[in-house]
Amino acid sequence: MKDYSKQTAAVQSGVKRSQFGELSEALYLTQCFAYDTAEDAERRFKEPREDEFVYSRYGSPTVAMFEERIAAIEGAESAFSTASGMAAVSGALMSLLKAGDHIVSARALFGSCHFVVDTILADFGVEVTFVNGSDIEEWKSAVRENTKVLFFESIANPTLEIVDIEAVVGVAKSVGAHVVVDNAFATPVYSKAIEQGVDIVCYSATKHIDGQGRAMGGVILGSHDLIEGPVKTFMRHTGGCMSAFNAWVMLKSLETLELRVSRQTENALKLAREIEKRGYDVIYPGLESHPQYDLCMSQHGAGGTIFSLRLEDKETAFAFLNKLEIFSISNNLGDAKSIATHPATTTHQRMTEEQRLAAGITPGLLRMSVGIEAADDLLADVLNALG
Ligand SMILES: *Cc1c(COP(=O)(O)O)cnc(C)c1O
Repeated sequence: MKDYSKQTAAVQSGVKRSQFGELSEALYLTQCFAYDTAEDAERRFKEPREDEFVYSRYGSPTVAMFEERIAAIEGAESAFSTASGMAAVSGALMSLLKAGDHIVSARALFGSCHFVVDTILADFGVEVTFVNGSDIEEWKSAVRENTKVLFFESIANPTLEIVDIEAVVGVAKSVGAHVVVDNAFATPVYSKAIEQGVDIVCYSATKHIDGQGRAMGGVILGSHDLIEGPVKTFMRHTGGCMSAFNAWVMLKSLETLELRVSRQTENALKLAREIEKRGYDVIYPGLESHPQYDLCMSQHGAGGTIFSLRLEDKETAFAFLNKLEIFSISNNLGDAKSIATHPATTTHQRMTEEQRLAAGITPGLLRMSVGIEAADDLLADVLNALG
């Protein structure tokens, strides 16, 4: 399936049809598998063939369908799906790092990603350096001989700063480090990360991949060697696997991912343009006013489904949120329903005020995840709330 376009792969790849010939992919709810003979059990544990499973913490048919389909969309050789986006990010990092190693990470990160790097990895003896992700000179001067991983969000949450993937890959190559990218905001639709030289791409499937606010999930994608090697070794024994039911939800959601995300992106661009025209401080990498517009277009081809709005202060931001009628106040993103978030008091509350300001999260910053509703209705809602 590797040669088909993303759109075809999203619908056709990874199908494992049973003897019944079902058209829609089956949900296999099973923890274990039964073997014809003791010899067969022994062989399967020793050297499982393709589409042979032994235990669902390691892999199972519906989960494998999801993994094969998303790998085909992403253009990756292999994938392991996880219980959540954070299981994917923490699993990818933990599988590549050990005590005494050094990681360089962009500072502008999703709150839990920041906690994993800043606190958990540090507690396990990993040396951590944070840099301004959009300043390539900072990456260059931060790497050392023991640097094993460079980590960033290609489009940062919630400040929408773009990291130059190919430039960071170049820095990583100079010290033999791996590049791990959290691509949640870029989505598989606007990702060319593997082509651009990234070693491991992580997604929170909870976001655009489900896209309808139902199930948690994540996925780690990369080369056969990395995924079948350190990543699966770590994930299979630590247990952060995706459930079969969630894999089935995610698998079917991949079929409509591109339709939803491209409509959401069209809506986001329209809203960002109209709101900016009225003199508000709008951050959206798909706007020509965004300092990294050219990089965003060459790297992703579109600005994505989320824009941020910088209002004066917390009071103004709260008043705006409380006046919204279509946008829900929530902390998810990438959903078919439009969602508004106040990062400083929710998703990024754990950070200190100082860390938040360093990451550009001012008290009046709002993150607007644009859904698939009619753009005109959404615009009217936002303009009304802005008063
Ligand atoms: C939501 C999110 C995560 C975490 O995903 P979960 O599925 O909630 O664990 C990680 N990174 C980014 C950029 C996110 O937006």
